[in-house]
Amino acid sequence: MKNVLITGASRGIGRATAILLGTRGYRVGINYFTSKERAMEVKNIILAHGGEAEIYRADVSSYSQVEGMVRDFSEDFGKIYGLVANAGIYIRRNIREMSLEDWRKTIATNLDGTFYLARASLPYLTEKASMVFIASQLAFRGSPSSVAYSASKAGALGLMRSLALQLAPNVRVNAVSPGTIDTDMISSYSAEQRKKREDAIPLRRIGTPKEVAETVAFLLSEKASYITGACLDVNGGFYIH
Ligand code: NAP
Repeated sequence: MKNVLITGASRGIGRATAILLGTRGYRVGINYFTSKERAMEVKNIILAHGGEAEIYRADVSSYSQVEGMVRDFSEDFGKIYGLVANAGIYIRRNIREMSLEDWRKTIATNLDGTFYLARASLPYLTEKASMVFIASQLAFRGSPSSVAYSASKAGALGLMRSLALQLAPNVRVNAVSPGTIDTDMISSYSAEQRKKREDAIPLRRIGTPKEVAETVAFLLSEKASYITGACLDVNGGFYIH
């Protein structure tokens, strides 16, 4: 059984990924920050399907907490095959509105957190390993309403490409860029905003967390054995480039 550690697995895309991998033969480390009960729920779903999982609390923007989490996961289950850097926050502020604290918090969670996970895990990886970073279509498009978010995600893609070069040939490093996905992250959308977004997406709907999870599962697995340094869009055609 391969071990995979997923950050931000208590809700949304991380939760769907944890459940998918946990029911497909991976042993799953479920990272959460504030949603302990939701993380327990994910664990229990996996256990009910005969899988193995454990929950780990860590703020991904703290290197010492990430280091501790990776060490605990490895002590519990052994060497780590897979990492999914998924934990993320979205603060809807343009450059005129964004405080320095909110800028730092976004970069610290979305970009530092991704680097911390990869770096802290290096001593614990199996000889062949696989990492998947969750970016965003806003890394490519930019955004009229979020300044730090798109910068953090573009940074995560740059990091992914460098790690793909630096950790080859043993570790593959890839990314997934979701479009608009139905999670708490878009819960502030009004019905009107939602409809407008659906109309603008060529596939005419908002994506599901499971659709992102399926793509993560593919990149993580040996089925993607010749793919590294790549980013797959899961956006219904909203941004084609
Ligand atoms: P979500 O439903 O809001 O869930 C966010 C997850 O991140 C939660 O599990 C949360 O954990 C965790 N998290 C936040 N801050 C953390 C921290 N400091 N340390 C550890 N965990 C932390 O978001 P989502 O939509 O599933 O997003 C998942 C990823 O996909 C993010 O990187 C996001 O940027 C990206 N994405 C989402 C969309 C979208 O439309 N939904 C589009 C493009 C990209 P707790 O609840 O336990 O605190």
